[in-house]
Amino acid sequence: MSENKILVCRNLCKEFDIRDKKFPYPIHKLKAVSDVSFDIAGGETLGIVGESGCGKSTLGRLIMRITEPTSGTILLNGEDITAMKGEPLRRMRSRFQIIFQDPYAAFNPRMTIGSILEEPLSAAGVPKAEWTERIDRILDLTGIPKDAKARYPHEFSGGQRQRVSIARAILLNPELIVADEPVSALDVSIQAQILNLMKDLQEELGMSMMFISHNLASVQYISRRIAVMYLGRIVEIAESDILYTNALHPYTKALIGTIPVPVPAHGKRRRRLEGEVPSPIDLPEGCVFCKRCPHATDKCRTVSPVLKDRGAGHHVACHLYDSL
Ligand code: SF4
Repeated sequence: MSENKILVCRNLCKEFDIRDKKFPYPIHKLKAVSDVSFDIAGGETLGIVGESGCGKSTLGRLIMRITEPTSGTILLNGEDITAMKGEPLRRMRSRFQIIFQDPYAAFNPRMTIGSILEEPLSAAGVPKAEWTERIDRILDLTGIPKDAKARYPHEFSGGQRQRVSIARAILLNPELIVADEPVSALDVSIQAQILNLMKDLQEELGMSMMFISHNLASVQYISRRIAVMYLGRIVEIAESDILYTNALHPYTKALIGTIPVPVPAHGKRRRRLEGEVPSPIDLPEGCVFCKRCPHATDKCRTVSPVLKDRGAGHHVACHLYDSL
């Protein structure tokens, strides 16, 4: 695998204004993403995992430039796209694509699958003479029958629609795919098929992928490395096998503890993550996990831990490891 960096994010932040119509100014700032830095190498899949509301989908939208960052830097293959707008951004669009959780909402129900797949080719200025060949190749790769081109999205199952969504995303040979909860809305048996398809395509086409999910098991299956997010921050990044077997951050350990296990085989019961998630408009001082952490000390309540490499690329933001 090539180790060139396809995506480099540095100190990415996103704050949303919370308004009340009684006041002409924002009454609160909601910190959805705070000081997030990470890289994705060529051909690598980085999983982003965390509970609902942790900022992982906002992070995906920032990278896709669907949402404007408040501050920070995004480099795609060395090119700064943080503030890119208009025609230059439109031209860059073919190089990074997104797969949404609900493909049905992303499709125009009046368009056939063929027209849906022609749209990005037209927008990217691909000569019309090449469309049929490129679409047929992508249909083959994604396991969609060619007669689907004349049919409409409502004629397909959720899994088939997600295949079309994946086909559209890879049509222009992007360097990076952001997949935002791509299997969460599907039946469990279909989830496995779509995960396998994405894994095969990623290996065959060599693209990089950011795979966002609240489900640690699916993230672990598809990702080489995993970043764990909590309240807008990355609290741990490691190789996926290492994260699963030797998680360091108390939040990651708690997340792994919530994964269901077959009770007779392991003698373990599913654990619950205790405590309430603090409001993102009123974050605690110090470590944002301190109100739920069984190891919290006075230092944790006043000093925010920094994400640091604790050895072999295993990054953790936790005072328990300050001496490493
Ligand atoms: Fe727990 Fe302190 Fe580590 Fe935060 S810094 S996770 S409160 S031990």
